[in-house]
Amino acid sequence: MRTLENKTAVVTGGSRGIGHAIALAMAQEGANVAILYAGNREAAEKTEQEIAQIGGKVRAYQCDVSSFEETETVTKQILEEFGQVDILVNNAGIVRDGFLLSMKEEAFDDVINTNLKGAFHMIRHLYSHMMRKRSGRIINISSIVGLTGNAAQANYAAAKAGMIGLTKSTAKELAGRGVTCNAIAPGYIQSDMTDAMPEKAKEAIASQIPMKRTGLPQDVANLAVFLAGPGASYITGEVIRVDGGLAM
Ligand code: NDP
Repeated sequence: MRTLENKTAVVTGGSRGIGHAIALAMAQEGANVAILYAGNREAAEKTEQEIAQIGGKVRAYQCDVSSFEETETVTKQILEEFGQVDILVNNAGIVRDGFLLSMKEEAFDDVINTNLKGAFHMIRHLYSHMMRKRSGRIINISSIVGLTGNAAQANYAAAKAGMIGLTKSTAKELAGRGVTCNAIAPGYIQSDMTDAMPEKAKEAIASQIPMKRTGLPQDVANLAVFLAGPGASYITGEVIRVDGGLAM
């Protein structure tokens, strides 16, 4: 039996990169999947088709996770259309890199609002549903820079560190209700986000990875599937790195 049979997963930023791999991996384990995306309809529709081919129920929703109202509307819609939500993966994220000396307020706010507040919005809107159901799995995609900090990423590192506090607080509030909340802290994972980095920066990071390779979205998806499945029922409030040893 597949480990996520009869479960419904919501994956924010499920149209591309790490979220796409998580959505597909969960569908392969039998889950029905709702994905949220910001604006790239083509990628979202492609992901929908890929998941439909696997066989599960799937629907992509355009929704800006930084909006309290939009996320409230979409979570209601998902609950109506899927009947339940068992797994929430807060994966949607952006970067607006730059040194603090010249970082615009807007660049700081955009990253906090999408990466951190977006996760709060989704948890907030599904909290009572999971609490009443007395079961649920929340998985927040943080980053190793939330643990270590990173020059030219103060906004991003602050959001990702904030997600760790959000994870532990959510875990404490919901532990008695059968809901777990954990964070994954990926290192350097191949995706559109990292492809956009300057070649020199990519080489510099890659050369420091003890396992001598950059990560793949599937490396993160493997852990997300485990944390969503029956084998992880006694794990909560944890932060697990998927980084080839980069931040140890
Ligand atoms: P990508 O840039 O490849 O994909 C980002 C996804 O997030 C897309 O699906 C995008 O939708 C969606 N998204 C962006 N903004 C919003 C928004 N406001 N509302 C809803 N959806 C949104 O990123 P990655 O796959 O690389 O990263 C996924 C997560 O993993 C992020 O949180 C990132 O910070 C984290 N991470 C990534 C690492 C890496 O090395 N790649 C390392 C550590 C953490 P659309 O397609 O419509 O634009």
